[in-house]
Amino acid sequence: MSSSSDFVGELLHRNAAWAERIGNANPDLFPRNAKGQSPQILWIGCSDSRAGDGCLDLLPGDVFVHRNIANLLPYNDLSSLSVVQFAVEVLKVKHIVVCGHYNCGGVIACLGSKRLGLLDNWLRNLRDVRAKNKAELDKITDFHERVNRFVELNVIHQVHNVKKLSPVVDATREGRLQVHGLVYDVASGRLKPLDIPEDPNADDYLVLELDQSLE
Ligand SMILES: [Zn+2]
Repeated sequence: MSSSSDFVGELLHRNAAWAERIGNANPDLFPRNAKGQSPQILWIGCSDSRAGDGCLDLLPGDVFVHRNIANLLPYNDLSSLSVVQFAVEVLKVKHIVVCGHYNCGGVIACLGSKRLGLLDNWLRNLRDVRAKNKAELDKITDFHERVNRFVELNVIHQVHNVKKLSPVVDATREGRLQVHGLVYDVASGRLKPLDIPEDPNADDYLVLELDQSLE
Protein backbone atom coordinates (compact mmCIF):
# COMPACT_ATOMS: atom_id res chain seq x y z
CA MET A 1 0.00 0.00 0.00
CA SER A 2 1.41 3.39 -0.97
CA SER A 3 1.83 6.13 1.55
CA SER A 4 -0.66 8.18 -0.48
CA SER A 5 -3.43 5.61 -0.02
CA ASP A 6 -2.48 5.34 3.66
CA PHE A 7 -2.96 9.06 3.92
CA VAL A 8 -6.29 9.13 2.10
CA GLY A 9 -7.43 6.03 3.99
CA GLU A 10 -6.77 7.78 7.27
CA LEU A 11 -8.72 10.84 6.07
CA LEU A 12 -11.66 8.66 5.02
CA HIS A 13 -11.59 6.86 8.34
CA ARG A 14 -11.68 10.14 10.25
CA ASN A 15 -14.38 11.51 7.93
CA ALA A 16 -16.64 8.49 8.44
CA ALA A 17 -16.35 8.80 12.21
CA TRP A 18 -17.04 12.56 12.03
CA ALA A 19 -20.09 12.16 9.78
CA GLU A 20 -21.54 9.52 12.09
CA ARG A 21 -20.92 11.59 15.21
CA ILE A 22 -22.33 14.83 13.76
CA GLY A 23 -25.24 13.04 12.10
CA ASN A 24 -26.19 11.21 15.29
CA ALA A 25 -26.08 14.39 17.34
CA ASN A 26 -28.00 16.38 14.68
CA PRO A 27 -30.29 14.00 12.79
CA ASP A 28 -31.82 16.78 10.63
CA LEU A 29 -28.51 18.36 9.64
CA PHE A 30 -27.38 16.42 6.58
CA PRO A 31 -30.90 16.03 5.09
CA ARG A 32 -31.36 19.80 5.57
CA ASN A 33 -27.98 20.61 4.01
CA ALA A 34 -28.84 18.40 1.04
CA LYS A 35 -31.65 20.84 0.20
CA GLY A 36 -29.55 24.02 0.32
CA GLN A 37 -27.84 26.51 2.58
CA SER A 38 -28.96 29.57 4.50
CA PRO A 39 -26.01 30.62 6.68
CA GLN A 40 -26.37 33.73 8.81
CA ILE A 41 -22.66 34.51 8.95
CA LEU A 42 -19.95 35.30 6.43
CA TRP A 43 -16.55 34.59 8.00
CA ILE A 44 -13.55 36.33 6.45
CA GLY A 45 -10.42 34.96 8.07
CA CYS A 46 -6.78 34.05 7.61
CA SER A 47 -5.70 30.81 5.94
CA ASP A 48 -3.58 29.99 9.00
CA SER A 49 -4.20 26.38 10.07
CA ARG A 50 -4.75 27.49 13.66
CA ALA A 51 -7.35 30.17 13.04
CA GLY A 52 -10.42 28.91 11.19
CA ASP A 53 -14.11 29.33 11.89
CA GLY A 54 -14.07 26.03 13.82
CA CYS A 55 -13.59 28.13 16.96
CA LEU A 56 -17.26 29.15 16.65
CA ASP A 57 -18.32 25.56 17.34
CA LEU A 58 -21.03 25.75 14.69
CA LEU A 59 -22.21 23.15 12.19
CA PRO A 60 -21.86 22.64 8.43
CA GLY A 61 -24.29 25.08 6.81
CA ASP A 62 -23.97 27.74 9.51
CA VAL A 63 -21.05 29.78 8.16
CA PHE A 64 -20.11 30.91 4.65
CA VAL A 65 -16.34 31.19 4.61
CA HIS A 66 -13.61 33.07 2.80
CA ARG A 67 -10.02 32.73 3.93
CA ASN A 68 -6.79 34.07 2.53
CA ILE A 69 -3.39 35.00 3.85
CA ALA A 70 -3.84 37.74 6.48
CA ASN A 71 -7.62 38.10 5.98
CA LEU A 72 -7.38 40.86 3.38
CA LEU A 73 -10.15 42.46 1.30
CA PRO A 74 -8.33 44.32 -1.48
CA TYR A 75 -10.56 46.08 -4.00
CA ASN A 76 -9.05 44.26 -6.96
CA ASP A 77 -9.45 40.76 -5.53
CA LEU A 78 -12.26 39.14 -7.51
CA SER A 79 -12.34 36.14 -5.22
CA SER A 80 -13.12 37.90 -1.95
CA LEU A 81 -15.35 40.50 -3.66
CA SER A 82 -17.40 37.71 -5.26
CA VAL A 83 -17.74 35.93 -1.94
CA VAL A 84 -19.02 39.09 -0.26
CA GLN A 85 -21.47 39.84 -3.07
CA PHE A 86 -22.86 36.29 -3.10
CA ALA A 87 -23.09 36.10 0.68
CA VAL A 88 -24.87 39.44 1.03
CA GLU A 89 -27.08 39.55 -2.06
CA VAL A 90 -27.96 35.89 -2.55
CA LEU A 91 -27.53 34.16 0.80
CA LYS A 92 -28.52 37.33 2.65
CA VAL A 93 -26.24 36.72 5.62
CA LYS A 94 -27.00 38.91 8.61
CA HIS A 95 -23.43 39.22 9.86
CA ILE A 96 -19.99 39.57 8.31
CA VAL A 97 -17.15 38.68 10.66
CA VAL A 98 -13.65 39.80 9.73
CA CYS A 99 -11.38 37.78 11.98
CA GLY A 100 -7.64 38.25 12.26
CA HIS A 101 -5.47 36.28 14.63
CA TYR A 102 -2.56 37.03 16.89
CA ASN A 103 0.85 35.71 15.79
CA CYS A 104 -0.22 36.03 12.13
CA GLY A 105 2.67 35.05 9.86
CA GLY A 106 1.60 37.51 7.15
CA VAL A 107 1.67 40.34 9.66
CA ILE A 108 5.06 39.27 10.99
CA ALA A 109 6.41 39.18 7.42
CA CYS A 110 5.20 42.74 6.81
CA LEU A 111 7.13 44.02 9.79
CA GLY A 112 10.31 42.78 8.11
CA SER A 113 11.87 43.17 4.67
CA LYS A 114 12.56 39.59 3.54
CA ARG A 115 11.44 38.86 -0.04
CA LEU A 116 8.86 36.08 -0.26
CA GLY A 117 8.17 35.98 -4.02
CA LEU A 118 4.69 36.20 -5.49
CA LEU A 119 3.28 36.52 -2.00
CA ASP A 120 4.91 39.96 -1.68
CA ASN A 121 2.33 41.32 -4.14
CA TRP A 122 -0.53 40.10 -1.98
CA LEU A 123 1.08 41.29 1.24
CA ARG A 124 1.62 44.76 -0.21
CA ASN A 125 -2.01 45.39 0.75
CA LEU A 126 -0.99 44.67 4.33
CA ARG A 127 2.11 46.88 4.04
CA ASP A 128 -0.31 49.68 3.12
CA VAL A 129 -1.97 49.14 6.51
CA ARG A 130 1.43 49.25 8.18
CA ALA A 131 2.32 52.48 6.38
CA LYS A 132 -1.01 54.06 7.31
CA ASN A 133 -0.41 53.25 10.99
CA LYS A 134 3.36 53.71 11.04
CA ALA A 135 3.41 56.29 13.82
CA GLU A 136 1.45 54.09 16.23
CA LEU A 137 3.27 50.86 15.37
CA ASP A 138 6.75 52.33 15.55
CA LYS A 139 6.07 53.48 19.12
CA ILE A 140 5.57 49.89 20.31
CA THR A 141 9.01 48.61 21.28
CA ASP A 142 8.07 45.02 22.13
CA PHE A 143 7.98 43.07 18.83
CA HIS A 144 5.27 40.64 19.96
CA GLU A 145 3.05 43.52 21.06
CA ARG A 146 3.72 45.35 17.79
CA VAL A 147 2.71 42.27 15.80
CA ASN A 148 -0.51 41.89 17.73
CA ARG A 149 -1.47 45.58 17.46
CA PHE A 150 -0.76 45.38 13.72
CA VAL A 151 -3.14 42.37 13.62
CA GLU A 152 -5.86 44.49 15.25
CA LEU A 153 -5.26 47.51 13.02
CA ASN A 154 -5.46 45.25 9.98
CA VAL A 155 -8.85 43.89 11.10
CA ILE A 156 -10.09 47.47 11.56
CA HIS A 157 -8.80 48.41 8.10
CA GLN A 158 -10.41 45.35 6.48
CA VAL A 159 -13.74 46.03 8.22
CA HIS A 160 -13.59 49.53 6.74
CA ASN A 161 -12.85 47.99 3.33
CA VAL A 162 -15.82 45.62 3.61
CA LYS A 163 -18.11 48.48 4.58
CA LYS A 164 -17.21 50.36 1.39
CA LEU A 165 -18.44 47.57 -0.90
CA SER A 166 -21.72 48.35 -2.66
CA PRO A 167 -23.63 45.21 -1.56
CA VAL A 168 -22.58 45.89 2.04
CA VAL A 169 -23.44 49.60 1.83
CA ASP A 170 -26.94 48.76 0.62
CA ALA A 171 -27.58 45.94 3.13
CA THR A 172 -26.34 47.91 6.13
CA ARG A 173 -28.40 50.97 5.14
CA GLU A 174 -31.43 48.68 4.94
CA GLY A 175 -30.63 47.45 8.46
CA ARG A 176 -30.23 43.79 7.49
CA LEU A 177 -26.47 43.41 7.87
CA GLN A 178 -23.84 44.08 10.52
CA VAL A 179 -20.07 43.93 10.09
CA HIS A 180 -17.90 42.87 13.02
CA GLY A 181 -14.16 42.77 13.71
CA LEU A 182 -12.71 39.99 15.87
CA VAL A 183 -9.27 38.68 16.70
CA TYR A 184 -8.60 35.03 17.49
CA ASP A 185 -5.92 34.23 20.03
CA VAL A 186 -4.06 31.11 18.88
CA ALA A 187 -2.62 30.73 22.38
CA SER A 188 -5.97 30.42 24.14
CA GLY A 189 -8.56 29.57 21.49
CA ARG A 190 -10.56 32.64 22.52
CA LEU A 191 -12.04 35.37 20.34
CA LYS A 192 -11.67 39.04 21.22
CA PRO A 193 -14.14 41.60 19.85
CA LEU A 194 -12.63 44.83 18.56
CA ASP A 195 -14.16 48.28 18.82
CA ILE A 196 -14.19 49.44 15.24
CA PRO A 197 -13.80 53.22 15.03
CA GLU A 198 -15.72 55.13 12.38
CA ASP A 199 -13.84 55.33 9.11
CA PRO A 200 -12.99 59.04 8.75
CA ASN A 201 -12.85 58.63 4.96
CA ALA A 202 -16.04 56.59 4.55
CA ASP A 203 -18.00 59.40 2.87
CA ASP A 204 -15.29 59.90 0.26
CA TYR A 205 -15.85 56.34 -0.95
CA LEU A 206 -19.64 56.32 -0.79
CA VAL A 207 -21.36 55.55 -4.11
CA LEU A 208 -25.10 54.92 -3.87
CA GLU A 209 -26.63 54.58 -7.30
CA LEU A 210 -25.70 54.39 -10.95
CA ASP A 211 -24.78 57.72 -12.45
CA GLN A 212 -27.28 58.01 -15.32
CA SER A 213 -25.27 60.80 -16.92
CA LEU A 214 -22.61 58.21 -17.82
CA GLU A 215 -25.04 56.19 -19.98
ZN1 LIG B 1 -2.55 34.73 9.60
